[in-house]
Amino acid sequence: LSDRLGGVFDRLTKQGALTEDDVRTAMREVRVALLEADVSLPVARSFTKAVTGKATGAAVTKSVTPGQQVVKIVHDELVKTLEGDEEPGRLKIDNPPAPILMVGLQGGGKTTTTGKIARRLKERDGKKVLMASLDVNRPAAMEQLAILGEQIGVDTLPIVPGQRPVDIAKRAKQQAALGGYDVYFLDTAGRLQIDQVLMDEVQQVRDAVSPRETLLVVDGLTGQVAVEVAQEFDDKVGVSGVVLTRMDGDGRGGAALSMRAVTGKPIRFVGLGEKLDALEEFDARRIAGRILGMGDIVSLVEKAQEVADVEAQERMMKRFQKGLFNMNDLKGQLQQMQKMGGMEGMMSMMPGMGKMKKAMEGSGIDDSILRRQIALIDSMTKKERANPALLQASRKKRIAKGAGLEVSELNQLLKMHRQMADMMKKLGKGGMLKRAMSMMG
Ligand code: GDP
Ligand code: MG
Repeated sequence: LSDRLGGVFDRLTKQGALTEDDVRTAMREVRVALLEADVSLPVARSFTKAVTGKATGAAVTKSVTPGQQVVKIVHDELVKTLEGDEEPGRLKIDNPPAPILMVGLQGGGKTTTTGKIARRLKERDGKKVLMASLDVNRPAAMEQLAILGEQIGVDTLPIVPGQRPVDIAKRAKQQAALGGYDVYFLDTAGRLQIDQVLMDEVQQVRDAVSPRETLLVVDGLTGQVAVEVAQEFDDKVGVSGVVLTRMDGDGRGGAALSMRAVTGKPIRFVGLGEKLDALEEFDARRIAGRILGMGDIVSLVEKAQEVADVEAQERMMKRFQKGLFNMNDLKGQLQQMQKMGGMEGMMSMMPGMGKMKKAMEGSGIDDSILRRQIALIDSMTKKERANPALLQASRKKRIAKGAGLEVSELNQLLKMHRQMADMMKKLGKGGMLKRAMSMMG
């Protein structure tokens, strides 16, 4: 209705909006940063294009530049893109024995990562784990897995020379069932490049065991290549998650974004070294910071936002101290509550409000009501908002109708406003508000 009045709070914390020019200029730098981080070109392009649309018109926090605001928006968008919905570290391994297929190019870190995840499942989740090497071309690779198994105390499938990968997979499946294992890993052979033989082999294995998870292991230092590899494996075999290795290196990890953008598959873990405990659950925030390489700006904007929030609160407090608390103030407070994640958050932001919190608990206020209350205030005229005492029966009817709500709800809102206004007055007189404010600063 009257968004012209906007949120009191928003006006106090924001300075203008980002123009197309602001965004375009800043986005040029962002694109360079992404490319330097080894994000593949098409992904960097489409990502910046998508964020450009979102950023244009967005509000700029007081005391930061438009460029800084753009960087913050890019960062948040980067986190969102990388994050996905799933819990990264939680593998689907119910219904034992659950097969996990490890795929990727040679040297990407499949065997090492198999050991790392097996160790984690054993130590952290108490799972009984079996590992099998399907790398028939390189006997040394089978030995490598057996040695890893000994190091971490995880069983490996006995090596039988001359078997095809699919036969080994079937034997592992059988052994896992007989031996009462929760999980069994199939560590496939890699090639230096993707070829038909490799894909046929992996497909056969997949069809023989129907893996619960197919984890693609890729070297996080290979930006463009990683994307092609991911796309190919996902097309031919189907991938359920990605592990990025060598993230202990100097690379900024742009492959994470490319991977996510191209395959849409969640990144589950990152490898941080050769040792078997050098594995971490994927943390979108940390990788986003690393990819963008503008952590200083991001935290600067976050701090500015906090300061602006506090300043706006203080300014409102000053009004309250003078006993001023009209419907605009109430709307500002309600919007602040929405922003802070409801009652609890808001009250904890404002020391000395414990009493009020109790009073409001009794009146049955919860976050789902906030929107309706704001709608009621929006449906009042400017005069009514400034002076709620004007509200007689006919005006009340009009306001409730305008908001599509009952007069009884409006009455509740008015009662709450009176209580809060009284409280503000009392607190203001007693100097309690002042003390509360100094505690906040
Ligand atoms: P595979 O051919 O895919 O099975 O690759 P391997 O597991 O044999 O790993 C190849 C090399 O990369 C080995 O020397 C590993 O120690 C090393 N490696 C694997 N993961 C990481 C990692 O996260 N960081 C580092 N620095 N080295 C790794
Ligand atoms: Mg290997």
